[in-house]
Amino acid sequence: MFIHYRTQGLIFKKEDLGETNQLFTIYTKDFGKLEILGKAIRKISSKLKSGAELFYLSEIEFIQGKTHKTLTDAILIENFPNIKKDLKRLKIAYQIVDALDNMVKGQEPDEKIWQLLNETFERLNANTLKPVTCNLVYYYFLWNFLAILGYQPELYHCSLCQKKISPEKVYFSSKEGGLICRKCFSETGAPSRLGKEIQPETIKIIRLMLQKDWKTLLKLKIEAKYLKELFLVSKSYFSKICGENSLSS
Ligand SMILES: [Zn+2]
Repeated sequence: MFIHYRTQGLIFKKEDLGETNQLFTIYTKDFGKLEILGKAIRKISSKLKSGAELFYLSEIEFIQGKTHKTLTDAILIENFPNIKKDLKRLKIAYQIVDALDNMVKGQEPDEKIWQLLNETFERLNANTLKPVTCNLVYYYFLWNFLAILGYQPELYHCSLCQKKISPEKVYFSSKEGGLICRKCFSETGAPSRLGKEIQPETIKIIRLMLQKDWKTLLKLKIEAKYLKELFLVSKSYFSKICGENSLSS
């Protein structure tokens, strides 16, 4: 007899296998990231279909065979309809799960990642979400996700001399893992390699994200240039960590 495992999971990848099967990648509450086979799920008669679809949060049940896990039940909890209806939101959902898939390799439960993923999808699905603030949802996920994985950036003190950051010219260095004061920046021989200037407004946005202060974030009127800077800093920091992660695994 097989043991049946039950848990909640967010289905974030699906791939057709053969004529009627599908392979799902699911981030689950109790087991972390899993790959589970949906046998004959593409047949019209499959009762699993109603609960196993991309970006569904579902209650799932599976069995562990010798070589793979097989889905035996899937009951929909939330299908995030606003994400599916809106291309912009859908694109962000893909960005979020790409980051998740890139950084989470093994099968290990993590309550904090689970909570963050659920919270992020709820925010992305919210009726009140405006197109302008849509992108913030991705960065909100990314910075908090990296912090959970142990890569919380230093945003209050200089990463090199540890002095409190004062409101003057400051720099962000992905290599050093956070802000760098003007003095340290000017003292390094090759400043271009150490970091880029970052505006106080952008620092404030990242701080608020890490404080999970979504309410205040929504109230901010963020100018395009700070959004651009947020994009560049996030991209640089995430690439740096991805690089380290792929070297160590
Ligand atoms: Zn310094």
